[in-house]
Amino acid sequence: MDLAERYPNLHVSRHPLVDHKLAILRDVGTDPKKFRELVRELTWLLGYEAMADLDTRMVSINTPLEQMDGAQVEPKVGLVPVLRAGLGMVDAMLELIPTAQVWHIGLYRDERTLKPVEYYNKLPDAATVQVCLILDPMLATGGSSAATVDILKAWGAARIKQVSLIAAPEGVATLSGQHPDVDIHVAAMDRALNERGYIVPGLGDAGDRQFGTFAGPASEPGHEPGDETAEVVRRLQRDLASR
Ligand code: URA
Repeated sequence: MDLAERYPNLHVSRHPLVDHKLAILRDVGTDPKKFRELVRELTWLLGYEAMADLDTRMVSINTPLEQMDGAQVEPKVGLVPVLRAGLGMVDAMLELIPTAQVWHIGLYRDERTLKPVEYYNKLPDAATVQVCLILDPMLATGGSSAATVDILKAWGAARIKQVSLIAAPEGVATLSGQHPDVDIHVAAMDRALNERGYIVPGLGDAGDRQFGTFAGPASEPGHEPGDETAEVVRRLQRDLASR
């Protein structure tokens, strides 16, 4: 069964500009300034696709020549960047939809278990938006995304979409398995997670590459993974194989 059949909610962009920009983004020689520009441009292209089905209503407008009905986006949209790498996707989305609200939910990935741990959440009691876009350049294990969706659903968001630059099959399986109603928009599906929880071939650490925080391999998340990290990845891979 191919991916499109298995995951009707998965949308992998087929745009040549997306492929072109992604290749430069992945390249190890791309410096943080260029990397940030490309994250912005790719987010713009993916956001355009991800919001293609937003409802509109007609409103009366006046051109300099006459009155006509024009479209206005109907739902209130919330952007939920997964900290910290998702921050680089916010401005591009706000260029597309300047009225969007930006809500921060802080989850970090425990480096040994790869499980999401919540450390920041200031959502008000009731949802203030109808559509939420979760922004995370890398859909790796899917754990942070699934946990973010849990929070947003409990908040009352009616529709939730995930926008990522690169996804691993394990991450798509986890997120779609727990939340089949969440649309996933990506620029590319990669081969797998490695035993350190990185997407391969991937692009490395999307946060470090955007923000220039390279302190050597020992500082990378998942370095010296120990048995627990590798075991989590093996479990995700077993889950994926058994689907
Ligand atoms: N997060 C990243 O930044 N890169 C990966 O490959 C996986 C998770």
